Amino acid sequence: MYCKKRNSNSEQFRSWLTAKELNEALIVCIKQCQKQQFSQEIEDFIKTGKVHKKSVVTSLNPFIDNDGLLRLYVRYILNMWNLGGILRKLGTNEQCVAFSEQEGLVLKEKKCPVHRSNMKILYSVGCKHFGTFVCSKGTCRTKFGGNGRKISRRKGTFFENTKIDLIHVFYLIYAYARGWSHENVILEDPYKELNSKCLSSCTIADWFSYCREVIVIYYLEKKLEFSGKIGGPGKIVQIDESKFGKRKYNKGTTIFMLYNFFIVFCKFCSFTEDFLFVSGRHIEGHWVLGMIEDGSQDLRLEVCPDNIRSAEVLIPLIQKHVQVGTTIHTDCWRAYNCLSDYGYVHKQVNHSDPENPFVGADGIHTQRIEAQWRVVKSFFRTKHFTNMSNFTDLIIEYLWRRYVIKFKKDAFVELVNAIKFVYELK
Ligand SMILES: [Zn+2]
Repeated sequence: MYCKKRNSNSEQFRSWLTAKELNEALIVCIKQCQKQQFSQEIEDFIKTGKVHKKSVVTSLNPFIDNDGLLRLYVRYILNMWNLGGILRKLGTNEQCVAFSEQEGLVLKEKKCPVHRSNMKILYSVGCKHFGTFVCSKGTCRTKFGGNGRKISRRKGTFFENTKIDLIHVFYLIYAYARGWSHENVILEDPYKELNSKCLSSCTIADWFSYCREVIVIYYLEKKLEFSGKIGGPGKIVQIDESKFGKRKYNKGTTIFMLYNFFIVFCKFCSFTEDFLFVSGRHIEGHWVLGMIEDGSQDLRLEVCPDNIRSAEVLIPLIQKHVQVGTTIHTDCWRAYNCLSDYGYVHKQVNHSDPENPFVGADGIHTQRIEAQWRVVKSFFRTKHFTNMSNFTDLIIEYLWRRYVIKFKKDAFVELVNAIKFVYELK
């Protein structure tokens, strides 16, 4: 590391090494050792995605992480957060405060805007939160009275306006990260006997939506997994659109009748078919475009704007994710007909062909993308998916969860990182 540093043209040559640099050096060392001891395993994994059955590490589920290190899945699972760990490490308010300070979720210290000296932290009796920054010097005391100038430590953080205890907040963050249902959260709540009451479904829904909001911002800003395009010449990408959500007439029959009336009205005034189409779609659900490359797990999903699945909408979405020259398999939806005009090799499977509804001539099929729809839809069934307006957020939550599993991350750690990123402390 020293050598690397000396060679680089950095103006500031510091004599000490940062923790990050030491970590990088350690990775280089471990890589060298692994190259000598496990070269066959590493080679096998890169080629086939798994190691040879006879290898000594096979039973420990080895994999290669982002740094290119050979790691053991068993060891990695043991290091992940679990409910026991949450109780042990985040089971008291003091622990939650210490953890939040350490993870950069809340400020450790703050200077008084007038006196420029560190403010004290005051905890009220039985405080279930982070306490308050207080300055009781001169003018601050005379101006504000009591203990002087007060600034809540929660202000501007993820925890602002929290109505429940910190231990519950961290429990809910954990539960969201694990993808638990509301029922599960209530059932597993380790504090329910202590408080002799349980979390309301409303509170859970609120905190889950705060967490989802964080994930959506984090996912989009960090552009997770969206590295480059899929496909390429000689490669096959299956593309399909699917409709999410059902016709919901929550407001009773009045809306339904109004809707029917609206359609008759439109017909009467001879509005175009397309207009009817759109207004009909809006009530029915959301169209999502899915794209997956053969032999890869890299799934791309896009919610169609305004629920339109015309060529004008679909082609730019496809161009955003799929390389020119790719062979694209689709069903017979007419919007795809012009794909070959955009530099793609286009092949269709005709679902209404009674002879062979799933596999077209030359073995063309879209079964992989259709299998993906089943998984995505089962995810939506487990969510309390009643509000159509947060649909795009749920799709992103789904993609984030896929990302966490694919890169073998600890969902709780990832979520805490996301909170830290979104609620950057100033
Ligand atoms: Zn002051």
